[in-house]
Amino acid sequence: METKQFKAESKRLLDMMINSIYTHKEIFLRELISNASDAIDKLYFKSLTDSSVGIKRDDFAINLKLDKENRTITVSDNGIGMTEEDLENNLGTIANSGSLAFKKDNDLGEDVDIIGQFGVGFYSTFMVAKEVTVYTKAYGSDKAYKWQSDGVEGYTVEECDKEQAGTEIVLKLKDNTDDENYDKYLEQYEIQSLVKKYSDYIRFPIKMEVEHTHYDEKGENPEIHKEIETLNSMTPIWKKNKSELKDEDYNNFYKEKFMDYQDPITHIHSKNEGIATYDALLYIPSKAPFDYYSKDFEKGLQLYSSGVMIMDKCSDLLPDYFSFVKGLVDSEDLSLNISREMLQLDRQLKIIAKNVEKSIKNELSKLLKNDREKYIKFFDTFGLQLKFGIYQSYGAAKDTLQELLMFPSSFDGNKVTLDEYVSRMKEGQDVIYYACGESIPRIEMLPQIELVKDKGFEVLYFTQDVDEFAIKMMMEYKGKKFKSVSDGDLDLETEEEKEETKKTSEENQDMFKFMQESLDGKVKDVRLSTKLKSHPVCLSAEGNITIEMEKVLNSMPQNDGNKVTAEKCLELNPSHPVFEKLKSLYTADKDKLAEYTKILYSQALLIEGMSIENPVEFANLICGLMV
Ligand code: ADP
Repeated sequence: METKQFKAESKRLLDMMINSIYTHKEIFLRELISNASDAIDKLYFKSLTDSSVGIKRDDFAINLKLDKENRTITVSDNGIGMTEEDLENNLGTIANSGSLAFKKDNDLGEDVDIIGQFGVGFYSTFMVAKEVTVYTKAYGSDKAYKWQSDGVEGYTVEECDKEQAGTEIVLKLKDNTDDENYDKYLEQYEIQSLVKKYSDYIRFPIKMEVEHTHYDEKGENPEIHKEIETLNSMTPIWKKNKSELKDEDYNNFYKEKFMDYQDPITHIHSKNEGIATYDALLYIPSKAPFDYYSKDFEKGLQLYSSGVMIMDKCSDLLPDYFSFVKGLVDSEDLSLNISREMLQLDRQLKIIAKNVEKSIKNELSKLLKNDREKYIKFFDTFGLQLKFGIYQSYGAAKDTLQELLMFPSSFDGNKVTLDEYVSRMKEGQDVIYYACGESIPRIEMLPQIELVKDKGFEVLYFTQDVDEFAIKMMMEYKGKKFKSVSDGDLDLETEEEKEETKKTSEENQDMFKFMQESLDGKVKDVRLSTKLKSHPVCLSAEGNITIEMEKVLNSMPQNDGNKVTAEKCLELNPSHPVFEKLKSLYTADKDKLAEYTKILYSQALLIEGMSIENPVEFANLICGLMV
C-alpha cells in the first residue's frame, strides 16, 4: 500500500510538536473527545430534522477503552463519521494553519508551547502515541476506512469493515522514557480526572468501563467489579449556577472552546428570563486574534437552541464595534432548523442581540470604573474598534460608546475619558480642545498647541487616524463641542488683544494679499495668527475638512488619485522677528518676500507632518539663504 505524505505545513507542525518541550501532553484526550462530540453534534442535529437517521438522543455516546496489555487507548463515537475524502482533507493536512500564521506573525521561538496554545486537535495525539489508527464510516455511506500513521513517515488509507457510522481512534502509546511515563494514561483514575478537568461539560456521555474493588464485612477478600460509568456531568458550563463556578473554570472553558492560550480579560455570564429567555456566556479576550483587523476575521457568537449548537458564528448577535467578543448564547426560544436568512428576521434574536450589547457595554463600564489598569489594557487592544464604531454608524452608536472612549491628554500624559476631561474644564471653557498628529511627541511639538496649553486648557491628543473622524460624527460630548487647536478661530484672546490684532491686520492687508498670490492658490488666505507663541508660522484649515483629515483620506488605498484638500490658511505670528523682516521686504524687495513666503509655507507643511510639493525648490531656497 502506498504511504502518503503529509502536506508540507502539517509536516512542519508535526515535527515542532513532537520535538517541543511540551508539558501538557495530556490535552490529547480533550482534543479527541471534543472532535467526537462535534461529530455527534452533527449527526444529532441531522436526526432532529431528518427522521430517517433513527438514533435517539440517549443512544449517542463517546466510549473510552484502556488496554494495558497492548498499551492502547481507544476513543470511539457514533457521530457523523468521515468519508475517504474527509479523511484526506481533515487528517492529511492542517486545513486552517492559523497557528502557523500566528507563529510567523509573532516570531515565537521554536520551543514555545504553541501546540497547547492552539490545540491543533487531532495532531496532538502524536505527543503520546507512536501510532494512531482511525476507523471511520460516514453516516449514509456503505464504505468504511482505516487511516493509519506514525506521525512521521506519512499515512495510509485503506478500506475496512465497520458496522455502525462513526469513528474509532486507537492510540498506541509511546514507550516510556526517563522523563516521561506514558503508562499513566492507561490508569482509569488518570483518565477519569482528565475527563473531569477538561471535558466535564461535554453534552454527550463519555463512558468507560471502571473497576471498583469490593471487600467483605471484615474488609477482606477483595472482589473486582467492572461497570460502565459515565465520567462527565454533561451539564454545559453556562447552564450551571454562577456560585458553582470559579474564574478558573470560566477561563479554562474559554481557552479550550475558543482556542486562545491566554486568559480573557473578563467574562460575562448572564441568565435571562422574560421577553427573551436565554443564557449567555461572553468573553473579552486579552489579545486580538492575529487576523482581527483583516478582512478574514469573522465576528459572531455560537448559537445554541436548548443546548444544541445551531450556528458557530452568528454575526447578528454582535454589533461590529463589539466584534472582538467571543462566547455563546443558548435560548429555548429559537427553533432548531432556522436558516441564516430567517434568523435575521427573528424577533427573539433581535431582543437577545440588544441585551447582549447592553451587557457588554455595562461590563466594560464596570471595568473602567473598578479596574482602570485592566480597562486600559482592553482599550489599547480594542479601542480602535470602538472608535470605528462611532464613525461607521455616523454617530448612531455614540450613546453606547462615547463613555468608553479614552485619549491621551496634556493633563498628565495618561489616557483620559471624555467625562474626566469635561469634569475638569476651566471656568468659561466651552469647547473640548484636541490636537492631531502621528505620535504624542509630534503633537507636543505643534506650534498651535503651545498657547492653548499656556492658557491652562487641557488638550486631547489624537494619534489614530480614525480619532478625528469619530469625534466629527459625535459633534459634541455633554453639550461641549470639539475644537481642533489647528482650527482657524480658536478665540483665545482678550478684547484688548483682539483690537491689537485687528489693527495690525488692517495695516498689513496688502502684504498678506501679495503673499497669498505668490503661493499660487495653495492657501486661501494669509493672515495674522492668534494662537502662536514662539513659532513664526502655522497652517490652519477652514471648512469641514481639517488638515489631519486631508492627510488620512489621501493615504487611504481606495483613494486613487482623487485628492482631498483642506482649505488652508497660512498664519503668521506678529510678535516673531520674522514678521518684521517680511514687512521690510514688502517695501524693499518683493521678489525676496515671495521666496520667503514659499519657505515659510513649506515649513508650516513640514511641521504639520505633510510632504512639500517641491522639495528641490525648497532646498534651493534654503541654500540661497545660506550663501
Ligand atoms: P478541528 O477539530 O480544530 O477542526 P482537528 O485536527 O481536531 O481540528 O480535526 C480535523 C477535522 O477532522 C475535524 O474538523 C473533523 O472534520 C474531522 N474529525 C476529527 N475527528 C473526528 C471524528 N471523531 N469524527 C468525525 N470527524 C472528525
